[in-house]
Amino acid sequence: MSGVGPGVPASPAISADPADPADAADAADAADAADAADAADAAGPTAAANPRVEADRSRCCGAGMCTLNVPEVFDQNDADGLVVVLDPEPPRELHEAVRDAVNLCPASAISFIEG
Ligand code: SF4
Repeated sequence: MSGVGPGVPASPAISADPADPADAADAADAADAADAADAADAAGPTAAANPRVEADRSRCCGAGMCTLNVPEVFDQNDADGLVVVLDPEPPRELHEAVRDAVNLCPASAISFIEG
């Protein structure tokens, strides 16, 4: 014979049992979500913004120092010789060269905005 006799509940009461593996998994999921949110907070809003190259063509005198130093980022217009920014958000490996170009520009016509 089998079955549940009188006086014995057919199913256990539902509760958060710390020994229950399903409850433990739920707790781990909640912790994972909190960790992901913390990582996003730590990155901050500025982490997503790349440094940006800007040029003021009204100041440029066409000396070409920027084009000579970082041709991946700067060029000169064929018609007037004034600076043209080819890549306003250059890759990290060019940042130092861009800073140098900014410092070498005789007209202070280019800038590198890093935050
Ligand atoms: S170095 Fe300065 S002045 Fe010369 S082309 Fe570049 S932006 Fe213009």
